[in-house]
Amino acid sequence: MELRYEYRTGIGTDIHRLMPDLVLKLGGIEVPFDRGLLAVSDGDVALHALIDALLGAAGMGDIGTVYPDTDPRWRGADSRALLLGVKEKIEAEKWEVVNVDLTIHAEQPKLAPYKGQMKRAIAGLLDIDFAHVNVKAKTEEGLGPVGQGEAMAATAAVLLRRRIKGLF
Ligand code: MG
Repeated sequence: MELRYEYRTGIGTDIHRLMPDLVLKLGGIEVPFDRGLLAVSDGDVALHALIDALLGAAGMGDIGTVYPDTDPRWRGADSRALLLGVKEKIEAEKWEVVNVDLTIHAEQPKLAPYKGQMKRAIAGLLDIDFAHVNVKAKTEEGLGPVGQGEAMAATAAVLLRRRIKGLF
């Protein structure tokens, strides 16, 4: 019997404001910086973009419908736990993650030293191979809220697959 799969891609984006005296959570890790991201949850903009990409690929709406910001349960929530919750939802529909491609848009700090740790954290959370997660970081050339250091943003793309049942 030949295995056949159906495939779905999804994209997600997010942006959060940088504020002093907050811990910077990014890509599932803590990054040393003098500011952090303001949000209802811990503000991990990279995991939020990833969550939206996963939900998009699975045809399951978006982060705001799964975790409404009006619900006090998500106040200060660890975005890693939000990601695990979404992983459970898509796995219940038999989806598995093929790969993740993530871009973090930030003027500062330099994120190159943390990309490996982020890849490990995301691969661990999704229970996929380290080599199937890619993390990129770029500045915005001083332009707009990200370039002016007022915010950080992220863009994520994922590919999901699931077995098509039956004999071929
Ligand atoms: Mg967000």
